[in-house]
Amino acid sequence: MDASASPPPRRLEADAAARAHAELVETLRALIRIPSVNPPDPARPGAEMEAARWIAATLADAGIPSEVLEPVAGRGSVVARLRGDGTGGEPLLLLSHLDVVPASSGAWTHDPFAGDLADGYVWGRGAVDMKDLVAMELVVLRLLAAHARAAGLDPATDPIPGLRRDILFACTADEEAGGLEGLGWIVDHRPDLVRAAGALNESGGIATRVAGKTFYPIQVAEKGFAVFRVTVRGTWGHGSMPRDDNAVVLAAEVIRRLSKPGAPRQSATMRAFIDGLMAELPGAAGHAVRAIAGGDPRVEAAVLERMCDPSQARALHALLRDTISPDVIHAGVKYNVIPGEAVLELDCRVLPGTTAEAMRGQLLDRLGDMADRCTLHLVIFGPPVETDADTPLYRILEATIRDHDPDGLPLPVMAPFATDAKHLARIGVPCYGFSPLLLEPGERYLERFHGVDERVGLEALRWGLPVFYDAVMRFCAGE
Ligand SMILES: [Zn+2]
Repeated sequence: MDASASPPPRRLEADAAARAHAELVETLRALIRIPSVNPPDPARPGAEMEAARWIAATLADAGIPSEVLEPVAGRGSVVARLRGDGTGGEPLLLLSHLDVVPASSGAWTHDPFAGDLADGYVWGRGAVDMKDLVAMELVVLRLLAAHARAAGLDPATDPIPGLRRDILFACTADEEAGGLEGLGWIVDHRPDLVRAAGALNESGGIATRVAGKTFYPIQVAEKGFAVFRVTVRGTWGHGSMPRDDNAVVLAAEVIRRLSKPGAPRQSATMRAFIDGLMAELPGAAGHAVRAIAGGDPRVEAAVLERMCDPSQARALHALLRDTISPDVIHAGVKYNVIPGEAVLELDCRVLPGTTAEAMRGQLLDRLGDMADRCTLHLVIFGPPVETDADTPLYRILEATIRDHDPDGLPLPVMAPFATDAKHLARIGVPCYGFSPLLLEPGERYLERFHGVDERVGLEALRWGLPVFYDAVMRFCAGE
Protein backbone atom coordinates (compact mmCIF):
# COMPACT_ATOMS: atom_id res chain seq x y z
CA MET A 1 0.00 0.00 0.00
CA ASP A 2 1.11 3.55 -0.73
CA ALA A 3 1.13 5.30 2.64
CA SER A 4 1.72 8.67 1.03
CA ALA A 5 -1.54 8.56 -0.95
CA SER A 6 -3.48 11.75 -0.40
CA PRO A 7 -6.70 11.49 1.60
CA PRO A 8 -10.06 11.95 -0.11
CA PRO A 9 -11.40 15.52 -0.08
CA ARG A 10 -12.92 16.48 3.25
CA ARG A 11 -15.77 18.17 1.40
CA LEU A 12 -17.39 17.64 -1.97
CA GLU A 13 -16.52 20.66 -4.11
CA ALA A 14 -18.82 21.84 -6.90
CA ASP A 15 -17.75 19.55 -9.75
CA ALA A 16 -17.50 16.44 -7.61
CA ALA A 17 -20.83 17.29 -5.95
CA ALA A 18 -22.56 17.62 -9.34
CA ARG A 19 -21.23 14.24 -10.50
CA ALA A 20 -22.16 12.62 -7.20
CA HIS A 21 -25.66 14.12 -7.38
CA ALA A 22 -26.24 12.63 -10.83
CA GLU A 23 -25.06 9.25 -9.56
CA LEU A 24 -27.28 9.57 -6.48
CA VAL A 25 -30.38 10.26 -8.56
CA GLU A 26 -29.78 7.30 -10.89
CA THR A 27 -28.98 4.99 -7.98
CA LEU A 28 -32.19 6.00 -6.23
CA ARG A 29 -34.28 5.49 -9.39
CA ALA A 30 -32.77 2.04 -9.94
CA LEU A 31 -33.53 1.06 -6.34
CA ILE A 32 -37.14 2.25 -6.61
CA ARG A 33 -37.58 0.04 -9.70
CA ILE A 34 -36.95 -3.05 -7.57
CA PRO A 35 -40.30 -3.47 -5.74
CA SER A 36 -38.84 -4.75 -2.48
CA VAL A 37 -42.15 -4.56 -0.65
CA ASN A 38 -42.74 -5.91 2.81
CA PRO A 39 -44.75 -8.06 3.35
CA PRO A 40 -43.32 -9.67 0.22
CA ASP A 41 -45.60 -9.69 -2.83
CA PRO A 42 -46.53 -13.32 -3.64
CA ALA A 43 -46.32 -12.36 -7.32
CA ARG A 44 -42.68 -11.38 -6.89
CA PRO A 45 -41.24 -13.17 -3.87
CA GLY A 46 -37.60 -12.51 -3.14
CA ALA A 47 -37.65 -8.86 -4.25
CA GLU A 48 -35.72 -7.90 -1.09
CA MET A 49 -33.09 -10.42 -2.14
CA GLU A 50 -33.08 -8.87 -5.61
CA ALA A 51 -32.46 -5.44 -4.07
CA ALA A 52 -29.68 -6.84 -1.86
CA ARG A 53 -27.97 -8.43 -4.87
CA TRP A 54 -28.30 -5.22 -6.87
CA ILE A 55 -26.66 -3.28 -4.05
CA ALA A 56 -23.89 -5.89 -3.76
CA ALA A 57 -23.25 -5.59 -7.50
CA THR A 58 -23.10 -1.79 -7.23
CA LEU A 59 -20.52 -2.10 -4.48
CA ALA A 60 -18.57 -4.73 -6.43
CA ASP A 61 -18.41 -2.33 -9.40
CA ALA A 62 -16.51 0.04 -7.15
CA GLY A 63 -14.20 -2.72 -5.92
CA ILE A 64 -15.97 -3.08 -2.54
CA PRO A 65 -16.64 -6.66 -1.46
CA SER A 66 -19.87 -7.29 0.41
CA GLU A 67 -21.79 -10.15 1.93
CA VAL A 68 -25.44 -10.88 1.20
CA LEU A 69 -27.19 -12.50 4.15
CA GLU A 70 -30.38 -14.50 3.65
CA PRO A 71 -31.51 -15.84 7.04
CA VAL A 72 -34.94 -16.61 5.56
CA ALA A 73 -35.48 -17.42 1.89
CA GLY A 74 -35.95 -14.27 -0.14
CA ARG A 75 -35.21 -11.86 2.72
CA GLY A 76 -31.82 -10.41 1.76
CA SER A 77 -29.63 -7.96 3.64
CA VAL A 78 -26.24 -6.74 2.48
CA VAL A 79 -23.24 -5.72 4.59
CA ALA A 80 -19.85 -4.29 3.67
CA ARG A 81 -16.81 -2.66 5.26
CA LEU A 82 -14.40 0.02 4.09
CA ARG A 83 -11.21 -0.02 6.08
CA GLY A 84 -9.58 2.89 7.85
CA ASP A 85 -6.21 2.77 9.59
CA GLY A 86 -7.90 2.17 12.96
CA THR A 87 -6.28 5.13 14.74
CA GLY A 88 -9.57 7.00 15.10
CA GLY A 89 -11.52 4.46 17.13
CA GLU A 90 -14.47 2.18 16.56
CA PRO A 91 -16.23 2.14 13.16
CA LEU A 92 -19.09 4.27 11.91
CA LEU A 93 -22.10 2.25 10.74
CA LEU A 94 -24.13 3.48 7.79
CA LEU A 95 -27.45 1.77 8.37
CA SER A 96 -30.43 1.59 6.07
CA HIS A 97 -33.26 -0.72 5.09
CA LEU A 98 -34.01 -1.89 1.58
CA ASP A 99 -37.65 -2.90 2.07
CA VAL A 100 -40.60 -0.58 1.47
CA VAL A 101 -44.27 -0.70 2.37
CA PRO A 102 -46.66 -1.76 -0.41
CA ALA A 103 -48.15 0.82 -2.81
CA SER A 104 -51.31 0.34 -4.79
CA SER A 105 -50.65 2.17 -8.02
CA GLY A 106 -54.22 3.38 -8.67
CA ALA A 107 -54.05 6.57 -6.64
CA TRP A 108 -50.52 7.57 -7.70
CA THR A 109 -49.63 10.29 -10.22
CA HIS A 110 -46.64 8.17 -11.30
CA ASP A 111 -46.20 4.40 -11.16
CA PRO A 112 -44.76 3.85 -7.65
CA PHE A 113 -42.15 1.41 -8.99
CA ALA A 114 -41.06 3.23 -12.15
CA GLY A 115 -38.64 5.68 -10.51
CA ASP A 116 -39.93 8.50 -12.73
CA LEU A 117 -38.12 11.81 -12.82
CA ALA A 118 -40.69 14.61 -13.22
CA ASP A 119 -41.35 18.15 -12.00
CA GLY A 120 -38.07 18.25 -10.09
CA TYR A 121 -38.74 15.08 -8.10
CA VAL A 122 -37.81 11.43 -8.09
CA TRP A 123 -41.15 9.65 -7.66
CA GLY A 124 -41.83 6.29 -6.16
CA ARG A 125 -42.22 4.05 -3.15
CA GLY A 126 -39.06 4.35 -1.07
CA ALA A 127 -38.12 7.84 -2.32
CA VAL A 128 -38.00 9.06 1.29
CA ASP A 129 -38.44 5.81 3.24
CA MET A 130 -35.67 5.18 2.66
CA LYS A 131 -33.99 4.38 -0.61
CA ASP A 132 -32.82 8.00 -0.77
CA LEU A 133 -30.45 7.38 2.13
CA VAL A 134 -29.47 3.93 0.80
CA ALA A 135 -28.42 5.68 -2.40
CA MET A 136 -26.54 8.43 -0.50
CA GLU A 137 -24.63 5.82 1.48
CA LEU A 138 -23.75 3.88 -1.67
CA VAL A 139 -22.51 7.03 -3.43
CA VAL A 140 -20.29 7.96 -0.47
CA LEU A 141 -18.80 4.45 -0.28
CA ARG A 142 -18.19 4.39 -4.03
CA LEU A 143 -16.53 7.83 -3.93
CA LEU A 144 -14.14 6.71 -1.19
CA ALA A 145 -13.35 3.46 -3.00
CA ALA A 146 -12.74 5.32 -6.26
CA HIS A 147 -10.32 7.59 -4.45
CA ALA A 148 -8.39 4.61 -3.13
CA ARG A 149 -8.28 2.99 -6.56
CA ALA A 150 -7.03 6.23 -8.11
CA ALA A 151 -4.13 6.05 -5.62
CA GLY A 152 -3.32 2.53 -6.81
CA LEU A 153 -4.89 0.85 -3.78
CA ASP A 154 -7.39 -1.98 -3.53
CA PRO A 155 -10.41 -0.91 -1.44
CA ALA A 156 -11.17 -4.57 -0.80
CA THR A 157 -8.03 -5.00 1.31
CA ASP A 158 -6.24 -1.67 1.78
CA PRO A 159 -7.27 1.07 4.18
CA ILE A 160 -8.75 4.09 2.41
CA PRO A 161 -6.17 6.86 2.68
CA GLY A 162 -7.22 9.41 5.30
CA LEU A 163 -9.87 7.20 6.94
CA ARG A 164 -9.03 6.75 10.60
CA ARG A 165 -11.83 4.34 11.37
CA ASP A 166 -13.70 1.70 9.38
CA ILE A 167 -17.01 2.50 7.74
CA LEU A 168 -19.53 -0.32 8.04
CA PHE A 169 -22.50 -0.53 5.72
CA ALA A 170 -25.63 -2.53 6.47
CA CYS A 171 -28.71 -2.31 4.27
CA THR A 172 -31.28 -4.66 5.68
CA ALA A 173 -34.53 -6.44 4.90
CA ASP A 174 -37.71 -6.49 6.94
CA GLU A 175 -37.45 -3.14 8.75
CA GLU A 176 -41.04 -2.31 7.85
CA ALA A 177 -42.28 -5.34 9.80
CA GLY A 178 -40.03 -5.10 12.84
CA GLY A 179 -36.68 -6.15 11.35
CA LEU A 180 -36.51 -9.61 12.93
CA GLU A 181 -35.43 -11.13 9.61
CA GLY A 182 -33.08 -8.24 8.86
CA LEU A 183 -31.12 -6.22 11.41
CA GLY A 184 -32.67 -8.13 14.33
CA TRP A 185 -31.20 -11.36 12.96
CA ILE A 186 -27.81 -9.74 12.31
CA VAL A 187 -27.63 -8.37 15.87
CA ASP A 188 -28.51 -11.82 17.25
CA HIS A 189 -26.22 -13.90 15.01
CA ARG A 190 -23.53 -11.68 13.46
CA PRO A 191 -23.26 -8.64 15.78
CA ASP A 192 -19.68 -7.91 14.72
CA LEU A 193 -20.99 -6.84 11.32
CA VAL A 194 -22.72 -3.84 12.90
CA ARG A 195 -20.83 -3.12 16.13
CA ALA A 196 -19.77 0.51 15.92
CA ALA A 197 -19.13 3.74 17.80
CA GLY A 198 -22.36 4.99 16.32
CA ALA A 199 -24.75 4.61 13.42
CA LEU A 200 -26.44 6.94 10.96
CA ASN A 201 -29.95 5.90 10.04
CA GLU A 202 -33.12 7.26 8.44
CA SER A 203 -35.34 10.25 9.15
CA GLY A 204 -33.38 13.10 10.65
CA GLY A 205 -31.50 16.21 9.57
CA ILE A 206 -34.42 17.21 7.38
CA ALA A 207 -35.22 20.91 7.12
CA THR A 208 -38.43 21.68 9.02
CA ARG A 209 -39.95 25.15 9.22
CA VAL A 210 -41.71 26.30 12.36
CA ALA A 211 -42.84 29.92 12.82
CA GLY A 212 -40.51 31.13 10.08
CA LYS A 213 -37.34 29.41 11.35
CA THR A 214 -35.61 26.36 9.91
CA PHE A 215 -34.93 23.49 12.28
CA TYR A 216 -33.12 20.26 11.59
CA PRO A 217 -34.41 17.63 14.00
CA ILE A 218 -31.83 14.86 14.42
CA GLN A 219 -33.45 11.67 15.60
CA VAL A 220 -31.90 10.42 18.84
CA ALA A 221 -34.93 8.60 20.25
CA GLU A 222 -37.99 6.77 19.07
CA LYS A 223 -41.24 5.64 20.60
CA GLY A 224 -41.86 1.98 21.26
CA PHE A 225 -44.98 0.07 20.30
CA ALA A 226 -47.37 -2.22 22.13
CA VAL A 227 -50.08 -3.88 20.07
CA PHE A 228 -53.02 -5.11 22.13
CA ARG A 229 -55.93 -7.30 21.08
CA VAL A 230 -59.05 -6.47 23.06
CA THR A 231 -61.90 -8.98 23.11
CA VAL A 232 -65.19 -7.36 24.09
CA ARG A 233 -67.83 -9.75 25.37
CA GLY A 234 -71.54 -9.11 24.85
CA THR A 235 -74.53 -11.42 24.40
CA TRP A 236 -75.58 -13.18 21.21
CA GLY A 237 -79.19 -12.65 20.12
CA HIS A 238 -81.74 -12.03 17.39
CA GLY A 239 -81.29 -8.76 15.48
CA SER A 240 -85.03 -8.08 15.57
CA MET A 241 -84.78 -7.39 19.32
CA PRO A 242 -81.82 -5.05 19.93
CA ARG A 243 -79.74 -5.43 23.10
CA ASP A 244 -77.61 -2.92 24.96
CA ASP A 245 -74.98 -5.61 25.40
CA ASN A 246 -74.57 -6.14 21.64
CA ALA A 247 -70.77 -6.54 21.46
CA VAL A 248 -70.53 -3.95 18.65
CA VAL A 249 -72.42 -1.38 20.74
CA LEU A 250 -70.11 -2.12 23.67
CA ALA A 251 -67.06 -1.94 21.40
CA ALA A 252 -68.13 1.53 20.24
CA GLU A 253 -68.04 2.72 23.85
CA VAL A 254 -64.70 0.99 24.41
CA ILE A 255 -63.25 2.77 21.37
CA ARG A 256 -64.65 6.12 22.53
CA ARG A 257 -62.93 5.74 25.90
CA LEU A 258 -59.64 4.60 24.40
CA SER A 259 -59.48 7.25 21.68
CA LYS A 260 -59.33 10.27 23.97
CA PRO A 261 -55.83 11.79 24.02
CA GLY A 262 -53.88 10.97 27.17
CA ALA A 263 -52.01 13.40 29.41
CA PRO A 264 -48.77 14.86 28.03
CA ARG A 265 -45.41 13.81 29.42
CA GLN A 266 -42.00 15.06 28.33
CA SER A 267 -39.23 12.56 27.76
CA ALA A 268 -35.67 13.84 28.18
CA THR A 269 -35.30 14.15 24.40
CA MET A 270 -38.51 16.08 23.93
CA ARG A 271 -37.65 18.38 26.83
CA ALA A 272 -34.38 19.23 25.07
CA PHE A 273 -36.26 19.67 21.79
CA ILE A 274 -38.85 22.02 23.29
CA ASP A 275 -36.22 23.97 25.24
CA GLY A 276 -34.28 24.37 21.98
CA LEU A 277 -37.37 25.60 20.14
CA MET A 278 -38.22 28.06 22.92
CA ALA A 279 -34.71 29.46 22.96
CA GLU A 280 -34.69 30.10 19.22
CA LEU A 281 -38.19 31.21 18.36
CA PRO A 282 -39.07 34.90 18.65
CA GLY A 283 -41.08 36.06 21.70
CA ALA A 284 -44.69 35.05 21.20
CA ALA A 285 -43.87 31.82 19.34
CA GLY A 286 -41.41 30.85 22.08
CA HIS A 287 -44.03 31.34 24.76
CA ALA A 288 -46.50 29.38 22.68
CA VAL A 289 -44.13 26.41 22.64
CA ARG A 290 -44.00 26.50 26.43
CA ALA A 291 -47.78 26.28 26.44
CA ILE A 292 -47.69 23.09 24.35
CA ALA A 293 -46.21 21.19 27.23
CA GLY A 294 -48.34 22.83 29.89
CA GLY A 295 -50.79 19.96 30.11
CA ASP A 296 -53.98 21.60 28.86
CA PRO A 297 -54.98 19.75 25.67
CA ARG A 298 -57.06 22.66 24.35
CA VAL A 299 -54.16 25.10 24.68
CA GLU A 300 -51.86 22.53 23.09
CA ALA A 301 -54.20 22.03 20.13
CA ALA A 302 -54.66 25.78 19.59
CA VAL A 303 -50.92 26.45 19.69
CA LEU A 304 -50.06 23.58 17.36
CA GLU A 305 -52.68 24.71 14.89
CA ARG A 306 -51.22 28.21 14.80
CA MET A 307 -47.56 27.24 14.55
CA CYS A 308 -47.35 24.01 12.62
CA ASP A 309 -48.77 22.40 9.54
CA PRO A 310 -51.25 19.63 10.40
CA SER A 311 -48.77 16.79 9.93
CA GLN A 312 -46.19 18.45 12.20
CA ALA A 313 -48.93 19.09 14.76
CA ARG A 314 -50.00 15.44 14.70
CA ALA A 315 -46.38 14.33 15.15
CA LEU A 316 -45.75 16.69 18.07
CA HIS A 317 -49.00 15.70 19.72
CA ALA A 318 -47.94 12.04 19.47
CA LEU A 319 -44.43 12.75 20.78
CA LEU A 320 -45.73 14.20 24.03
CA ARG A 321 -47.82 11.25 25.21
CA ASP A 322 -48.42 7.52 24.97
CA THR A 323 -50.94 7.11 22.14
CA ILE A 324 -53.63 4.58 21.28
CA SER A 325 -54.94 4.11 17.77
CA PRO A 326 -57.73 1.50 17.36
CA ASP A 327 -56.93 0.28 13.84
CA VAL A 328 -58.77 -3.03 13.41
CA ILE A 329 -62.24 -4.18 14.44
CA HIS A 330 -63.78 -7.61 13.84
CA ALA A 331 -67.35 -8.45 14.82
CA GLY A 332 -70.54 -9.97 13.57
CA VAL A 333 -71.48 -13.02 11.51
CA LYS A 334 -74.74 -12.00 9.85
CA TYR A 335 -76.94 -8.89 9.65
CA ASN A 336 -79.70 -10.41 11.76
CA VAL A 337 -77.51 -11.96 14.46
CA ILE A 338 -76.56 -9.76 17.39
CA PRO A 339 -72.83 -10.30 17.88
CA GLY A 340 -71.74 -11.64 21.26
CA GLU A 341 -68.08 -10.81 20.71
CA ALA A 342 -66.03 -8.04 19.10
CA VAL A 343 -62.26 -7.98 18.72
CA LEU A 344 -60.26 -4.76 18.46
CA GLU A 345 -56.59 -4.28 17.69
CA LEU A 346 -54.92 -1.26 19.22
CA ASP A 347 -51.67 0.28 17.99
CA CYS A 348 -50.26 1.81 21.19
CA ARG A 349 -47.06 3.86 20.89
CA VAL A 350 -45.17 4.35 24.11
CA LEU A 351 -42.74 6.98 25.35
CA PRO A 352 -39.41 6.07 26.94
CA GLY A 353 -40.28 4.92 30.46
CA THR A 354 -43.62 3.29 29.56
CA THR A 355 -43.47 -0.51 29.79
CA ALA A 356 -45.94 -2.95 28.24
CA GLU A 357 -47.42 -3.50 31.71
CA ALA A 358 -47.79 0.24 32.28
CA MET A 359 -49.55 0.58 28.93
CA ARG A 360 -51.93 -2.23 29.89
CA GLY A 361 -52.62 -0.36 33.13
CA GLN A 362 -53.46 2.80 31.16
CA LEU A 363 -55.89 0.84 28.97
CA LEU A 364 -57.63 -0.65 32.01
CA ASP A 365 -57.90 2.79 33.65
CA ARG A 366 -59.54 4.21 30.57
CA LEU A 367 -61.91 1.27 30.24
CA GLY A 368 -63.11 1.83 33.79
CA ASP A 369 -66.31 -0.17 34.38
CA MET A 370 -66.05 -1.62 30.85
CA ALA A 371 -62.89 -3.50 31.85
CA ASP A 372 -64.97 -6.40 33.20
CA ARG A 373 -66.28 -7.05 29.70
CA CYS A 374 -62.87 -6.94 28.05
CA THR A 375 -59.89 -9.27 27.82
CA LEU A 376 -56.58 -7.65 26.87
CA HIS A 377 -53.89 -9.62 25.10
CA LEU A 378 -50.47 -8.15 24.30
CA VAL A 379 -49.64 -9.18 20.71
CA ILE A 380 -46.21 -7.60 20.31
CA PHE A 381 -44.04 -5.09 22.16
CA GLY A 382 -41.11 -3.11 20.79
CA PRO A 383 -39.27 -1.06 23.40
CA PRO A 384 -38.76 2.69 23.02
CA VAL A 385 -35.21 3.87 22.39
CA GLU A 386 -33.54 6.96 23.84
CA THR A 387 -29.94 7.48 22.79
CA ASP A 388 -27.42 9.79 24.40
CA ALA A 389 -27.18 13.01 22.38
CA ASP A 390 -23.97 13.93 24.20
CA THR A 391 -21.55 11.97 22.01
CA PRO A 392 -18.82 13.06 19.59
CA LEU A 393 -20.86 11.72 16.66
CA TYR A 394 -23.97 13.69 17.60
CA ARG A 395 -21.92 16.87 18.03
CA ILE A 396 -20.41 16.35 14.56
CA LEU A 397 -23.89 16.01 13.05
CA GLU A 398 -24.95 19.29 14.70
CA ALA A 399 -21.82 21.12 13.60
CA THR A 400 -22.15 19.83 10.04
CA ILE A 401 -25.75 21.06 9.77
CA ARG A 402 -24.77 24.47 11.15
CA ASP A 403 -21.95 24.79 8.63
CA HIS A 404 -24.20 23.98 5.69
CA ASP A 405 -27.10 26.16 6.84
CA PRO A 406 -25.84 28.89 9.19
CA ASP A 407 -29.42 30.05 9.85
CA GLY A 408 -30.72 26.56 10.60
CA LEU A 409 -30.90 25.02 14.03
CA PRO A 410 -30.20 21.32 14.65
CA LEU A 411 -32.17 19.84 17.55
CA PRO A 412 -32.36 16.35 19.07
CA VAL A 413 -35.77 14.81 18.54
CA MET A 414 -37.77 11.64 19.03
CA ALA A 415 -39.55 9.87 16.17
CA PRO A 416 -43.18 8.87 16.73
CA PHE A 417 -42.53 5.59 14.88
CA ALA A 418 -40.05 2.76 15.35
CA THR A 419 -36.99 2.05 13.22
CA ASP A 420 -34.25 -0.57 13.37
CA ALA A 421 -32.49 1.56 16.02
CA LYS A 422 -34.14 -0.67 18.65
CA HIS A 423 -32.01 -3.62 17.51
CA LEU A 424 -28.76 -1.63 17.69
CA ALA A 425 -29.71 -0.42 21.16
CA ARG A 426 -29.46 -4.06 22.31
CA ILE A 427 -25.71 -4.03 21.62
CA GLY A 428 -25.22 -0.48 22.84
CA VAL A 429 -24.68 1.22 19.47
CA PRO A 430 -26.08 4.76 19.52
CA CYS A 431 -28.12 5.38 16.40
CA TYR A 432 -28.94 8.81 14.98
CA GLY A 433 -31.52 9.61 12.32
CA PHE A 434 -29.57 11.63 9.79
CA SER A 435 -30.67 11.69 6.15
CA PRO A 436 -30.15 15.38 5.37
CA LEU A 437 -32.54 17.04 2.94
CA LEU A 438 -33.36 20.70 2.34
CA LEU A 439 -37.07 20.90 1.58
CA GLU A 440 -39.11 23.65 0.00
CA PRO A 441 -41.16 25.65 2.52
CA GLY A 442 -44.56 24.03 2.88
CA GLU A 443 -43.50 20.54 1.78
CA ARG A 444 -45.32 18.12 4.07
CA TYR A 445 -42.54 15.67 4.23
CA LEU A 446 -43.99 13.47 6.98
CA GLU A 447 -47.07 12.76 4.87
CA ARG A 448 -44.89 11.21 2.18
CA PHE A 449 -43.79 8.39 4.47
CA HIS A 450 -45.89 5.39 3.46
CA GLY A 451 -48.13 7.86 1.58
CA VAL A 452 -49.41 8.15 -1.98
CA ASP A 453 -47.10 10.06 -4.38
CA GLU A 454 -44.03 9.50 -2.22
CA ARG A 455 -41.25 11.55 -3.83
CA VAL A 456 -38.08 13.45 -3.06
CA GLY A 457 -36.93 16.74 -4.60
CA LEU A 458 -33.78 16.85 -6.72
CA GLU A 459 -32.74 20.05 -4.97
CA ALA A 460 -33.36 18.51 -1.56
CA LEU A 461 -30.95 15.71 -2.53
CA ARG A 462 -28.48 18.18 -4.05
CA TRP A 463 -28.13 19.86 -0.65
CA GLY A 464 -28.24 16.64 1.34
CA LEU A 465 -25.50 14.54 -0.23
CA PRO A 466 -22.57 16.92 0.48
CA VAL A 467 -23.87 17.31 4.05
CA PHE A 468 -23.95 13.55 4.53
CA TYR A 469 -20.50 13.12 2.97
CA ASP A 470 -19.13 15.90 5.16
CA ALA A 471 -20.53 14.34 8.35
CA VAL A 472 -19.07 10.95 7.48
CA MET A 473 -15.65 12.44 6.73
CA ARG A 474 -15.61 14.54 9.91
CA PHE A 475 -16.26 11.50 12.03
CA CYS A 476 -14.07 9.04 10.13
CA ALA A 477 -11.24 11.19 8.80
CA GLY A 478 -11.12 13.92 11.44
CA GLU A 479 -8.12 14.50 13.64
ZN1 LIG B 1 -38.00 3.53 7.03
